[in-house]
Amino acid sequence: MNKIAIIGAGFAGLTIANLLKQYAQVTVFEKSRGSGGRMATRYAELWEFDHGAPFFTAESHEFKGFLHPLIEQKIISKWDIQFATKNLHANVCPPVFEVQKDYFVGINRMNSIGKYLAKDLNIKYETKITKLEYDRNKWRLTDDRLNQYEDFDFVITATPPLQAAEILPEDCSYIHNLKKFNMLPAFSIMLGFNEDITQKQEWNIACLKNSKIDKIIANHTKPFRKTKPSFVVLSTHDWAKFNVDKDKNDIGKEIISELEIIFSKKITPDVAQVHRWLYAEIEQTNKAQPFFIDTAYGIVSCGDWCLGGGVESAFKSGFEVSSYITV
Ligand SMILES: Cc1cc2nc3c(=O)[nH]c(=O)nc-3n(C[C@H](O)[C@H](O)[C@H](O)COP(=O)(O)OP(=O)(O)OC[C@H]3O[C@@H](n4cnc5c(N)ncnc54)[C@H](O)[C@@H]3O)c2cc1C
Repeated sequence: MNKIAIIGAGFAGLTIANLLKQYAQVTVFEKSRGSGGRMATRYAELWEFDHGAPFFTAESHEFKGFLHPLIEQKIISKWDIQFATKNLHANVCPPVFEVQKDYFVGINRMNSIGKYLAKDLNIKYETKITKLEYDRNKWRLTDDRLNQYEDFDFVITATPPLQAAEILPEDCSYIHNLKKFNMLPAFSIMLGFNEDITQKQEWNIACLKNSKIDKIIANHTKPFRKTKPSFVVLSTHDWAKFNVDKDKNDIGKEIISELEIIFSKKITPDVAQVHRWLYAEIEQTNKAQPFFIDTAYGIVSCGDWCLGGGVESAFKSGFEVSSYITV
């Protein structure tokens, strides 16, 4: 049986590991403490925030099929989103999303999806891979504590492109292609309240225009959530790019001031946290291909960025990698 190393336990890496586990001996290496990558949840006292992807859509037959057991097992559910188009400040715009689409979220929290997909896998957490070496037809991986993992026949990086380029061998045939992909930053500002700031909850997501804020998500209104009012405010990529090195406290203050204009009232959260995503989403590009491969080496790089970004792109990219390997 082939030994395969997957770097990254985000949706792409977890998809591949689940689809390949009966064909190969798969080990997943993940630098953080949990799985799910950018489908992330942060806990703060009585509040919970999905501070990465707030929801996702499913268009393709394959993705719907993959999600079916997660729906049956009550890991995910549809969310009938009410987009705010009125009752807020004039800079709230009609949804940029198609209202008639099905939107999915994790039941309880977004990171339950990663936890569920990870449950039968061999994952080494808190293991940041820093070097990949090909020696006598086998791969050797080194982590940031200089531990080594040997004898892999095949390596799959399922990380953002620049994080893959940092560890690929310099002479990997596609390394220069990865460096052309540009990932955009974003700030997630997580605000918890004892009382709902919207008074009468008439919306789940507000999309903004002419603002440093892209979206306000009423996280506690997702199905089956039991937390106190928890709002996730996502900055625009442009504003994040400009403010990427700013102190997080200042970021929080600026966003709260913007909210005070939008809601025409003082905003005093009971809990406030800021997360900076350096690689939130891929800049839109027409260079779509499901994955990159160097067949001489036996190495693949994949992820949402290959197919335009978003959870379904992460799935499709991973699905195509596993189909290629199992054919
Ligand atoms: C703020 C925000 C809003 C978003 N909104 C939406 C949305 O509305 N709808 C939607 O569909 N998508 C949205 N997305 C995008 C969505 O989250 C991603 O498309 C998807 O989760 C990407 O999955 P992935 O597996 O390709 O990558 P990731 O989730 O980034 O997974 C990569 C994993 O690799 C790990 N890793 C990286 N380098 C190493 C290393 N050297 N060693 C070990 N591990 C490593 C990382 O820790 C991570 O867990 C959003 C993302 C963000 C951040």
